[in-house]
Amino acid sequence: MTVKIWNFFPREALYECYQCARCTGSCPAIEVAPALGPRETILKCLNLGHDEIVEDERLWVCCTCNVCEDRCPQKIPISDLLVALRNSAARRGNIPDKLEIAIELLAKTGRSMIVHQLDEMRAHHGLAPLLPVPIDEVREILKKTRLDEVVEF
Ligand code: SF4
Ligand code: SF4
Repeated sequence: MTVKIWNFFPREALYECYQCARCTGSCPAIEVAPALGPRETILKCLNLGHDEIVEDERLWVCCTCNVCEDRCPQKIPISDLLVALRNSAARRGNIPDKLEIAIELLAKTGRSMIVHQLDEMRAHHGLAPLLPVPIDEVREILKKTRLDEVVEF
C-alpha cells in the first residue's frame, strides 16, 4: 500500500519556504546527514518530487526534535513532512535494517534493545529490577499504529 503523502502534509506549504536555512542551521541530524537537512528536503521535494527522497536512507536520521519548525520564520511544519516521507518510505519497504530489528524486538520483548545483566547493574546502583513489560499491550499498540503492515512480527 502506498501512502498519499500530501494527505498528511499540506503540499502548498512547500512553496512558503524561501530557503533561508535557519532550519538546517539548527538541525542536529545534519551532523550525520549533511546533504539532507530540512531545507534541502523541502527543495528536493519541490525539484524532484518526494519519490526520489523516500529512497534515501538519510531520511531516517531525523529525530523529530521539531527545532527546525520552531525556528522557521514561515512556521512550516517540517517534522510533519519528514514523518510523512518516512511513512511513505516504510510502506515501500525502504526501512533501515536497524529500525526493523528494533521493531521486531519491541514486539517480542516490549523493549527496543536488550541490555545484558540489566537487573544486576540496577542492583549495583541500588535500583529495583524493572517491572515486566505488558507485551500484549505493546503488540496491540504496534498493530493499531499499523506497524505490522511494514514489519513482520
Ligand atoms: S527555516 Fe523555513 S523558510 Fe527557512 S529554509 Fe527552513 S523551511 Fe524554509
Ligand atoms: S525535526 Fe528532524 S529535521 Fe527538524 S531539526 Fe529536528 S532532526 Fe532536524
